[in-house]
Amino acid sequence: MEKNAEKVWTNCLKIIKDIVEWQHFKTWFEPIKPISIKNNILVIQVPSQFFFEYLEEHYVNLLAKTLKRELGKEARLEYRIMVDSGSKNKEPLMMDIPGQGYKMYPNNEMDFPLIINNPVKNPFVIPGLKKMQIDPQLNPVYLFDSFIEGDCNRVARRAGKTVAEKPGANSFNPLVLYGGVGLGKTHLAQAIGNEVKRTHPNRVVLYVSSEKFINQFMDHSRNNAINDFIHFYQLIDVLIVDDVQFFAKAEKSQDALFAIFNHLHQSGKQLVLTSDKPPKDLEGVQERLLSRFRWGLSADLQVPDYETRIEILERKMKHDGLEMPKEVVKYIAYNISNNVRELEGALISLLAQSSLNRREIDLDLAKKVLRNFVKSSSKEITIETIQKMVCDYFDVPYDKLLQKTRKREIVQARQITMYLAKAFTKNSLKTIGEHFGGRDHTTVIHSCQTVKDLMDTDGVFRENVLELQQKVQLAAM
Ligand code: ADP
Ligand code: MG
Repeated sequence: MEKNAEKVWTNCLKIIKDIVEWQHFKTWFEPIKPISIKNNILVIQVPSQFFFEYLEEHYVNLLAKTLKRELGKEARLEYRIMVDSGSKNKEPLMMDIPGQGYKMYPNNEMDFPLIINNPVKNPFVIPGLKKMQIDPQLNPVYLFDSFIEGDCNRVARRAGKTVAEKPGANSFNPLVLYGGVGLGKTHLAQAIGNEVKRTHPNRVVLYVSSEKFINQFMDHSRNNAINDFIHFYQLIDVLIVDDVQFFAKAEKSQDALFAIFNHLHQSGKQLVLTSDKPPKDLEGVQERLLSRFRWGLSADLQVPDYETRIEILERKMKHDGLEMPKEVVKYIAYNISNNVRELEGALISLLAQSSLNRREIDLDLAKKVLRNFVKSSSKEITIETIQKMVCDYFDVPYDKLLQKTRKREIVQARQITMYLAKAFTKNSLKTIGEHFGGRDHTTVIHSCQTVKDLMDTDGVFRENVLELQQKVQLAAM
């Protein structure tokens, strides 16, 4: 404890004592511990979140006035709150929250310096750069310009633009973007980050996936460095946390997110979150977090309509320098309607097929390629067909494939067949096993795993599997 802080606080208490009723003074002021003082900010420790809220609600003016008398008009108060009392081998979890007194001052960056109590270990630091230079972890291709607007995403996109223009100083805090897979949550969230970096280069922006956040938290927790972790995140001006549904059941990480959220929100910093469902449906996430997620705006991303899909395709083609007849674009947009990622996938496959076969992209080729995406129109392929194809390919007798021979080539051919049967038919593992002389489903699982592993380590094997895979694909057209 710094002497100075104690002295300042003692002087404050002298005044407060005269004003506040004795009982109240005992309850609300005696338990407060002065911690430190720096840049006119006095940090006081209070026993709980409730305590902090009570003080802020009932005594904010009194605190602000007395403190200003002691420290001048720039004086600020910051609360240190114990979020978790810790245990024998865990340090207690604390968070620092600025008092509302600061709102009496313009909220300008220089005017409101960040406070670091411990040297912060920065998990995102760029080696060689100054200690607090944080790599925002943004992918520069995700921009507003490349994010096509349609009815499906208008509210979300516009809210995102507002947030990027005035991070922290808007009513969309936090901005929660939610929607199914491949509908553009990550793209839009990152576009906000990129735009802030472009227009407000001094703001500290950080994009982090929830998995990464949780993993980092667990690392820090193991090393008894949770406070470092939280303090690091409290330095961010625009914090983007992707896929918060992964916090479900990660209790301790939720506590950390809660502490960070509160601190940032109260200091006028911006939060952008994405989720695969609306906050209210996030099971396994603490209510106190969910209620905070609802403070700002929750905007959904829906499946784009036909016109928007065409626009997205055209934009992508222009970007990749790709040309194809309008009827093909229409065909793709018409048939691929689930999400944008599939739309892009179809385009890439089409491109790959056209260059592989040295063939112009036309409707015919599109129809062939898209059959893999449009499941209903593809031919049903059977286990027997795949078995015959593999036998042909490796020149293995069909009956050997079914017998229990242990010869390596045969074993591998059998494993690949099972793997392909699993990938290209809708048969159960049990049925697949039965087609190989009555093996059980665990053998099939094992085979599939072996194939995957070998594909990672053995180039020739991988080539073989990929070639076979393509043959099966073509047979399914
Ligand atoms: P999510 O995070 O919701 O799963 P992504 O943001 O990863 O989805 O989007 C999947 C792909 O679709 C990305 O390549 C993204 O650029 C693209 N995409 C999604 N929505 C749009 C859009 N409105 N305009 C252009 N591209 C989009
Ligand atoms: Mg995503």
